[in-house]
Amino acid sequence: MQKSNANNTIDSPAKAERIPVTVVPSQSANQKIHIREQKGNFQKLRTGMNSLLVALFFLLPFISYDGRQAILFDLSQQQFIFFGTTLWPQDFTILAWVFIAAAFLLFFVTVFWGRIWCGYLCPQTAWTFIYVWIETRIEGNRNKRYALDKAPWSSDKLKKRALKHSAWGAVALLTGCGFIAYFVPARELYIDIFSLGASFWVTTWVWFFAICTYLNAGWMREQMCLHCCPYARFQSVMFDANTKTVTYDAARGESRGPRKRHQPSSLGDCVDCNLCVDVCPTGIDIRNGLQYECINCGACVDACNQTMDKFGYQRNLISYSSENTLAGKAEPFYESYKFIGYGVAALIMITVIAVDIYNRNNIELNVLRDRQTLYRETLDDKVENSFTLKIRNKTQQTRLYRIYVSGNNGYRLVGEANLTINPGEQLDYPITVVAEPSLLANSRNEITFTVAEQHNHGQASQQSSFFAPI
Ligand code: SF4
Ligand code: SF4
Repeated sequence: MQKSNANNTIDSPAKAERIPVTVVPSQSANQKIHIREQKGNFQKLRTGMNSLLVALFFLLPFISYDGRQAILFDLSQQQFIFFGTTLWPQDFTILAWVFIAAAFLLFFVTVFWGRIWCGYLCPQTAWTFIYVWIETRIEGNRNKRYALDKAPWSSDKLKKRALKHSAWGAVALLTGCGFIAYFVPARELYIDIFSLGASFWVTTWVWFFAICTYLNAGWMREQMCLHCCPYARFQSVMFDANTKTVTYDAARGESRGPRKRHQPSSLGDCVDCNLCVDVCPTGIDIRNGLQYECINCGACVDACNQTMDKFGYQRNLISYSSENTLAGKAEPFYESYKFIGYGVAALIMITVIAVDIYNRNNIELNVLRDRQTLYRETLDDKVENSFTLKIRNKTQQTRLYRIYVSGNNGYRLVGEANLTINPGEQLDYPITVVAEPSLLANSRNEITFTVAEQHNHGQASQQSSFFAPI
């Protein structure tokens, strides 16, 4: 993959006329990337979306529903609570559908808007920009950061580095807590962690995710996108000629070269200011064409528009454009088979999830026959069979249930048919059924157990066999 080969000095005599140019080399494959801070419409949008993502990440575990944490992966109880709905391991097909639907939605958006997810909503991008923001506030702008890297150790460098790593560490620890708050009660977690009162395993996991965050956003950054993220590798499969992605208009920009502002030039519109490279979080030069490293963050679009404004040129030399738009062809996006295909697949998956949730039962029933004895004959000439009903209350409320038995008019339950089961509890309930031998047609007869919630919150049935000496 090509990296920028732009020369960073502009040999124009009219320094006052020039836009700011970098005095440090462009990023190379082996060099740490320090990006220039960029302002602009797309950066406003990205900052807004990233802020929303981070706010949701930290705040969602604090939302309560029905007196409990609304979103909680309770590993100790093997249940996932989502706004009053409890999913058990056997319900996790719904989660599988959700992941598949999310993947199709991502593909659907990618066909139209390219890697918009990476630039605007990916946690990797959001946390990296938080870390870069902290770094910039403490160590200064891009040039100062490169200079500090090269400078020998001094008290000033030590102070800045200590401050930066402490701030990074604090964000990492908060992020570790934020993540684990989805697995243990959030309100107590932060207090326990910061008062050193958390259990060994909770503390271990918080620190594990804190260290991952610190390494990932502080040190690895674009390396994750370049070498670890599978989406970067297969995104091009989803692209077609109508996909809007960050693109340099080479026909308009070339041949590039420096010039004085507001003066006629025989060159193309690219003034070779190199700003598009300096602001790029993955260190690429978008003028080299579409590259898998590009996360579509739009920083180079804002940077180039800023340059175009200064030189009085039309904006959007770099823009979110499709191949067809650049070629002057107007092809409606809905003519893309990939776009339609992924859209239909996402809709199907969303329908499957809705049907699955609608048909979901909050009572789980398993009927087990007594394995020791097929049947018993009683002193009053009846036949009885014993069963164990395994009944799980899958809700987060205590519920009242009643057991019914059907399949033969002569079946009668012995014992209490009304039960109370605590939230999330499974009750193993032994029960005996008695029948009149004259009403049993075969040695093996059908019997159906039904457990119904007493306030019409659903019911569950299961068939079994009733044996008799015939
Ligand atoms: S090339 Fe532009 S859009 Fe792509 S990652 Fe770099 S700055 Fe962001
Ligand atoms: S494409 Fe735009 S930002 Fe990049 S070097 Fe040319 S003028 Fe500067």
